[in-house]
Amino acid sequence: MISWPGASGAGATVGGVTSRPNLKDLSLERLREQLVSSGLRAFRADQIAAWLYRRGVEDPAAMTDLPLVERRRLESEFEIRALEVAAVDRSRDGTVKAALQARDGSVVESVLIPEDERTTLCVSTQVGCPMACSFCATGFLGFTRNLTTAEIVDQVCRMREVAADGQEISNVVFMGMGEPLLNTDAVIEAVRLLVDPKAFAMAPRRVTVSTVGVVPQIERLLESVPVNLAVSLHATTDQVRDQLVPLNRRFPLEVLLGALRRQKRLSARRPVFFEYTLIGGVNDGLADARRLPGLLHGIPAKINLIPMNAHPDAAYDAPSEASVDRFMRELAARGMTVTVRRSRGEDIQAACGQLALRRTRESAA
Ligand code: SAH
Repeated sequence: MISWPGASGAGATVGGVTSRPNLKDLSLERLREQLVSSGLRAFRADQIAAWLYRRGVEDPAAMTDLPLVERRRLESEFEIRALEVAAVDRSRDGTVKAALQARDGSVVESVLIPEDERTTLCVSTQVGCPMACSFCATGFLGFTRNLTTAEIVDQVCRMREVAADGQEISNVVFMGMGEPLLNTDAVIEAVRLLVDPKAFAMAPRRVTVSTVGVVPQIERLLESVPVNLAVSLHATTDQVRDQLVPLNRRFPLEVLLGALRRQKRLSARRPVFFEYTLIGGVNDGLADARRLPGLLHGIPAKINLIPMNAHPDAAYDAPSEASVDRFMRELAARGMTVTVRRSRGEDIQAACGQLALRRTRESAA
């Protein structure tokens, strides 16, 4: 267990659950309403958001452009922090994984991935995951609960502090633990804070939500917020996808891809990013590569190949380098835009599909 700093609000207890509203649960629009109903002025929302999200200041006492009485009200009536850093692992390649602990003791992981021109933060949306994809380590944890908006947003706040000096988070991907579209309300509200010019002020094209294909929720997401959509495909036949992604039995390929084909908000400027985890001998053959373009016909698409990251729970193998190369060339030759995602942070179990709270090194007490 970790201790909570006093700034997080009077009366907070370790692992205890309190019922005060958390300021980070609310988009600016809803924060204004909440402040008014608590007897504060609506325009304070902009000032509070500037402190919380732009300057990273969370102690109301330090919000010097608010009158003292209002600072005290904030402190006594609201929660501000939702997560504390429990452990940090730093990879040889610069990737940083943190275990973050919520007030009820639940722990989730976030991963910070520095690249040449950007720094991407991968956030979790659930404690565990109920989707049980057969090759994903998180799936083996089972499901505990959805994260709140504040817990999603706090991953950005905490990881900003964990990042190396001067390293700004330029992109956020909802690709950590959990299925974002089983927690759509909280995810939409978190995205609103990320792209609000008065909150995190991120460009919408730098925020990506990844789903295994919860069809009815895809539409809601795209209509609510201007994010990028990523869809975890992993197969070109229902037979194979049923094995890898059990949700496929409810929303088979034809239903999922049909819905994407009809989705008016997608375009060449806002394509679907299809993730395809290549698993040796399962879905990495030439026949799959040849079927894929036809399957995606009519959908503005980019394909992201992810060579399977092996882990002890799954009885699947990584693909050979030759089969990754062959798969990629075959797609490119058929006119598809395709990239291969290099594995990052493998030495600290931070790579895709490895998030399962296995610690390699403890740091914070
Ligand atoms: N539930 C959402 C968000 C998680 S994103 C979704 O599935 O889209 C995590 C990505 O990593 C998904 O594309 C997932 O299929 C992929 N992944 C899971 N396990 C993996 C593994 N062992 N190796 C490589 N990629 C994996």
